[in-house]
Amino acid sequence: MKYVSTRGLAPELDFEDVLLAGLAKDGGLYVPASWPRLDPDEIAQLAGRPYQDVAAKVLWPFVGTSMSPADLKDMIDKAYATFDDAAVTPLVQLEDNHWLLELFHGPTLSFKDIALQLLGHLFDYVLAKRQARMTVVGATSGDTGSAAIEALRDRAAVSIFILHPYGRVSDVQRRQMTTVLDSNVHNIAIEGTFDDCQALVKAMFRDENYRQSIHMAAVNSINWARIMAQAVYYFYSAVALGAPEKKVAFSVPTGNFGDVFAGYVAAQMGLPIERLIIGTNVNDILVRVLKTKKYLVAEVTHTSSPAMDIQVSSNFERLLFDAYGRDGSAIRALMDSLSTEGCFDVSENALGSIRDAFRVCRIDENHTRGTIKSIHDATGRFIDPHTAVAIAAARQERPAQHVPLVSLATAHPAKFPEAVIDSTSLEPPLPARLSDLLQREERYDVLPNDLNTIKSYILQRF
Ligand SMILES: *Cc1c(COP(=O)(O)O)cnc(C)c1O
Repeated sequence: MKYVSTRGLAPELDFEDVLLAGLAKDGGLYVPASWPRLDPDEIAQLAGRPYQDVAAKVLWPFVGTSMSPADLKDMIDKAYATFDDAAVTPLVQLEDNHWLLELFHGPTLSFKDIALQLLGHLFDYVLAKRQARMTVVGATSGDTGSAAIEALRDRAAVSIFILHPYGRVSDVQRRQMTTVLDSNVHNIAIEGTFDDCQALVKAMFRDENYRQSIHMAAVNSINWARIMAQAVYYFYSAVALGAPEKKVAFSVPTGNFGDVFAGYVAAQMGLPIERLIIGTNVNDILVRVLKTKKYLVAEVTHTSSPAMDIQVSSNFERLLFDAYGRDGSAIRALMDSLSTEGCFDVSENALGSIRDAFRVCRIDENHTRGTIKSIHDATGRFIDPHTAVAIAAARQERPAQHVPLVSLATAHPAKFPEAVIDSTSLEPPLPARLSDLLQREERYDVLPNDLNTIKSYILQRF
């Protein structure tokens, strides 16, 4: 498979280079040159198979020529051996023909483990083949940092530096990062906000010399390999509910648009998806663009679902690329307007094709709390605030009753205890493997919000 940039000017790359590159040189995102298809028979044969077998079938067209099928399967098996449920992503019934897809059974309790656990093994494989090393530098407001650290700890060819805003992430989130004591893991608490952390990382990426001197790489969801890994659970759950004979609908709590775009990828590959419901919190740029066609960046509001407190949904660019008939120059024009004027208008044509596949729904904080409480009252089950947004959006935008509806549960409730306590007055327990988290030894350095200080800190340690 060859990959092309959404902005049309960067060179075509193969899978290995896309894996290591992250962002394309023209500022765009890499997507497959064409969508591979599975025919209905092949999809039907996935029903009842283990998650790992479904993953091998779905991922193969994207990586082929870089590795053998046996190597791929071996990496998939290792990646998902760390999950605490044999189904990897179990499906449980919530209410009449409405299902919850639990994506939080990995080591750090959010769906980010599903892609990052595999990414860790893919990096290892390609770096070993090339006898190369790399330094991952990332900023996190919570879930991505811990999932990346857990995926890359103890890897000989990788050093990882994660910047988080000092005093501004929850105890559970910080400890999931800072209690990992492997020598290749470096946690830096920045005296500043999440935006400061992100600006520091971007500035390091822009410094070509620095970037090359430390072999800097990214693990955020602009990395194509993360998207493809997430397409797997759409297939896995849909065939369990009757696909491909039946169409299935999904509701996805959305921030950077990576997860719901993976659903779109599954649909392009031939999975019959009735609709994809985009649930947002009050940071509703995606709702506004589908309703008004104007993509307009506003101020970020802090909510109980912080992983969705985002104004620029990076992966939306991948969808726009398809909606504009894969015209890279059109996407360049939109993104230029975004950086100079802070907005752009989506054409009627493009908007029409997006509205065919997606619905949008904004859920405010009261509605989120009410949903956590109503699910607990009705079923005794705790859900996290991101999952609550998906469920509330699903109920509002559900298709006909006979269409199976799946809400994605993206985090374990114990990862966001404040919101759960607020809604139910009860504290959701941490799963057994993390029950001693609050007693474990921590290690991190506090550094000022200063680019040169951070750069030399990393140079001394990578
Ligand atoms: C990252 C995250 C999301 C948002 O996913 P995107 O791919 O950025 O849209 C939703 N819920 C949780 C718990 C997350 O960690």
